[in-house]
Amino acid sequence: MTSWHPDRISVESFMRGELGGSDATRIVKHLVAGCPECQGVARLYYPCARPAAVPGGAERCISSWRGKGGRKVGEIFEDLLPELRSRQADLESEQIDAPGLVDRLAQCPQERRLMLVENSERYQTWGLCESVLERGFAMGPQDPAKALEWTELGVAIARKLSESTYSSELVHDLKARALSYLGNARRINSDLAGASRAFEEASAELDEGTGDELELARLLELKSALLFEYRKFREGFKILDRAIGIHRSSGGEHFLGRALIAKGFQLGELGDPEAAIATLMDGLKRIDIHAEKRLHLAAKHNLVYHFYSAGRYHQALAMVPEVRALHKELGDTVDLVRFKWLEAKIAQGHGELEAAETAFCEVRQFFAESEIPHEVAQVSLDLAILYLRQGRVAELKRLSSEMLVMFSSLGIGREAIAALVLFQQAVEMEKASFGLIRDLAAYLKNARNHPHLPFRPSSSD
Ligand SMILES: [Zn+2]
Repeated sequence: MTSWHPDRISVESFMRGELGGSDATRIVKHLVAGCPECQGVARLYYPCARPAAVPGGAERCISSWRGKGGRKVGEIFEDLLPELRSRQADLESEQIDAPGLVDRLAQCPQERRLMLVENSERYQTWGLCESVLERGFAMGPQDPAKALEWTELGVAIARKLSESTYSSELVHDLKARALSYLGNARRINSDLAGASRAFEEASAELDEGTGDELELARLLELKSALLFEYRKFREGFKILDRAIGIHRSSGGEHFLGRALIAKGFQLGELGDPEAAIATLMDGLKRIDIHAEKRLHLAAKHNLVYHFYSAGRYHQALAMVPEVRALHKELGDTVDLVRFKWLEAKIAQGHGELEAAETAFCEVRQFFAESEIPHEVAQVSLDLAILYLRQGRVAELKRLSSEMLVMFSSLGIGREAIAALVLFQQAVEMEKASFGLIRDLAAYLKNARNHPHLPFRPSSSD
């Protein structure tokens, strides 16, 4: 998001006071973040500084901002100009920009980073805060613990931002963003209560901010993910749709695309693959794939999955080579194994049982060695369905005993073990059914977030 630049014409019309609403707000934040290129354009309009001509020496000649749509943020920016200009001169003399400082911070342990941010003004800048937050956000899927550290650092910087340099309203906006990201980072670290608190704080900060709808949309989008985690689908979709509405009216195609993809993921979770497919495809058309390669890949990966679960095997297969290549390019081993798992499911759906079995076994082996018990359980159940379909009772029995031993040693929750015991008993009595396996798979998926959920198989089928 920090890679976004307004076009030159927009910056110029903003500086002439002709641009209002969320467009103006976005440009103000971009200029405040210290983009040298856009500040260069803005500076052409600067000698609005005619201190001698203005009573009291104030630089108040961009008065055309008043009365336009971007009134509030325009006035704020006008007040900030002198501060920003001197601040920029300081930073230029130090010749260290935000990316340079981020690299420097990356070398330090977290304790030292927090100390630098606390004590050195050089680290208390808008641009650095945004860069640190984006870094934390981007890291989330691969390294949740590090993502949390960077996000906490971003919150610490936001709290140190000078209100005289950036204005109180803009600082509240950025604190809201930092806390929204913190909520998200806590969610992916399974601290759901902490996530909820961070979102509440973010919401309170927004109330004190500029009223920037894009910041609100960002909060709503991230908060919806927490509601979905609690399986509160109705509430989650309500606020996600509100975020989508904001993006639609503000014309930010990339952000709209992201929110649609988030919605597509959840429609899939809800078990509506056709709606998920339509929404993901709509979102994919809109995102800037170079800016967010991982999101692009995740959306395509899920699209393949939903084609598969909607029984559209040919469409799923047609996408497989492209998505596999994307996984290889981004180089995340676990994701690549997950995709192999999906390929195995598609092969099974297509009737290529031998290829499916080999792949399921390899995937299972990988997750067992990586000690990811829930994935071992899920892929074991895929294998169980395959054995059951072929009437391979002896192998099914061996598999269910192995599962029980493995999960006891991998530290899976007690309720989940109890569910597996039930499953094993059914297998021993040769009463395991596709329905029971599917119930167990769904139960284990839910039990990840609610470890004390008791397992109740639905009536037999
Ligand atoms: Zn720029």
